[in-house]
Amino acid sequence: MGLLKNILLWTSKNDWISNKLPKYKFVKNSLSRFMPGETLVEALNECVKLENLNYGTIITYLGENTTEREQTYKIVHHYINALNDIKTKSLGTLISVKLTQLGLDIDINLCIENMQKLLKVANDNNAFIWVDMEEYCYLDKTLQVYNDLKKMNNNIGITLQAYLFRTEKDLIDLLPQATYIRLVKGAYIESSDVSMKIKNDIDENYLKLSKIMLSKEYLGNGFKPSFATHDDDIINFINTEASNQHIDCSLYEISMLYGIRRNLQNKLVKESQNIKILISYGEEWFPWYIRRIAENPKNLLLLVK
Ligand SMILES: Cc1cc2nc3c(=O)[nH]c(=O)nc-3n(C[C@H](O)[C@H](O)[C@H](O)COP(=O)(O)OP(=O)(O)OC[C@H]3O[C@@H](n4cnc5c(N)ncnc54)[C@H](O)[C@@H]3O)c2cc1C
Repeated sequence: MGLLKNILLWTSKNDWISNKLPKYKFVKNSLSRFMPGETLVEALNECVKLENLNYGTIITYLGENTTEREQTYKIVHHYINALNDIKTKSLGTLISVKLTQLGLDIDINLCIENMQKLLKVANDNNAFIWVDMEEYCYLDKTLQVYNDLKKMNNNIGITLQAYLFRTEKDLIDLLPQATYIRLVKGAYIESSDVSMKIKNDIDENYLKLSKIMLSKEYLGNGFKPSFATHDDDIINFINTEASNQHIDCSLYEISMLYGIRRNLQNKLVKESQNIKILISYGEEWFPWYIRRIAENPKNLLLLVK
């Protein structure tokens, strides 16, 4: 299974395959389970439906590693329109962004300026922005951008990956100032020098980090943890831990990806758990889609069918 996962993750970065495969109709058809559509309109229509069912929503416009300055301005423009549409529709939808889409590979200052523009509009709309965590080679720069922006903006959240050995230290460094931290297991192929490879080790680390994030010391300072996982054992652990410490479930959130473990999503929303669904959209879905397949290679069957 590990080998298959590595092959899939390698595929997601291969230019030739990334150009060819998305053109096949059967690949596009299998995508609909994970994505309501390629356009912002389709994503927001789904947000309306989900919010009517008491889910919170997050959207992300797919794309990474932008190489042209002009293109990053187009992405900023797109997200500003999205933030304004969200306001017009009176949705609570947040946006989640990748810094390499906003210019991190070109110039870190360009990326900071682009983010600052988005944070300003989000702030005017009483919203905050999630920053995704990409491959390990971007971790230091991502934290640098986050720390820089956090000095002037309270409406920014950062994602940390439980599969990295260094995350506990990063978490402890960030917690005293952080308002929003999202914990994920991690979705990229990384070297064993920096990242755990055994699922049990990653799960154990996730539990350890989530316990730190539920510390009353930080919750009392306005920190809001987000646990992004579809793993029911982990969710049960978090809920039990919170309940043992008399932490109300409104003080933290569980977030999941659109279309994944829908029964679990339904169950949690019925139990009045604070749950958010992240919807991805856009034309550049291929690397993202392959990472979703790699998370559960049984999804390959879906493609084959
Ligand atoms: C809101 C959100 C934001 C994220 N942001 C980032 C980010 O910024 N950086 C990053 O590296 N990663 C990110 N991820 C992805 C994350 O790192 C994991 O790869 C992903 O969530 C799968 O891990 P899991 O915690 O669900 O646990 P797993 O152990 O992988 O899965 C738990 C259960 O859910 C099922 N499941 C999980 N994924 C799938 C799938 N794709 N299809 C079908 N079943 C599935 C599994 O089969 C299993 O039963 C994000 C995930 C979410 C939910």
